[in-house]
Amino acid sequence: YFITFEGQDGAGKTTQMKRLQQALEERGYCVRMTREPGGCPISEQIREILLNIGNDEMDGVCEAYLYAAARAQHVRQVIVPALMRGEIVLCDRFIDSSLAYQGAGRGLGVERVAQINREAIGEWMPDLTLYFSLDPESGMQRNATGGKTLDRMEAAGEDFRARVRAGFMELAKGQPGRIRVVDADRSLEDVWQQVLSAVQEYLHL
Ligand code: C5P
Ligand code: MG
Repeated sequence: YFITFEGQDGAGKTTQMKRLQQALEERGYCVRMTREPGGCPISEQIREILLNIGNDEMDGVCEAYLYAAARAQHVRQVIVPALMRGEIVLCDRFIDSSLAYQGAGRGLGVERVAQINREAIGEWMPDLTLYFSLDPESGMQRNATGGKTLDRMEAAGEDFRARVRAGFMELAKGQPGRIRVVDADRSLEDVWQQVLSAVQEYLHL
């Protein structure tokens, strides 16, 4: 099974992912946790390029291709081999982040970014996607309180973040079968219960 975690910064994806990994391993499953952009050496190098340049330096199309390139390597080197071994793959961000950030946020258009990603992903769409829904400004605040330094995309403006949020919500509305909305504006425990029930319901674990 291939499960992805999506949503904006500070929504709590990473925390809940670790908890899910633990819960699944306790039930005897082999779990492979990974993340995008990154997840393997080449894609981590592409991540460095993407997140450590100035805000207006990179063209949006170049950005979309770099995310897709990192994904192509990651899918083939990490995700597919793990799925073939029968492991459950938990991935922190995947194609929906590209559709929301580059498609909606940067304004390239969701269909265009989907097209760019078609070759990168092939048939390997997630079985289940948990979208952590949270007002982006609350997410920013959470990260600030947690002492996290902002990377390039997190430091992008409020308008950008609002477009990304609208993009995610549109995706979730369009694919309710694959994308489950998790209300991330709740306590850790409450969010965890939502995650667990979505996973149990979908995968009959
Ligand atoms: O989830 P994480 O904080 O590791 O993501 C790194 C950054 O990349 C985030 O700030 C996110 O906003 C940005 N990002 C992006 N487009 C993507 C994926 C991530 O702008 N397709
Ligand atoms: Mg982040």
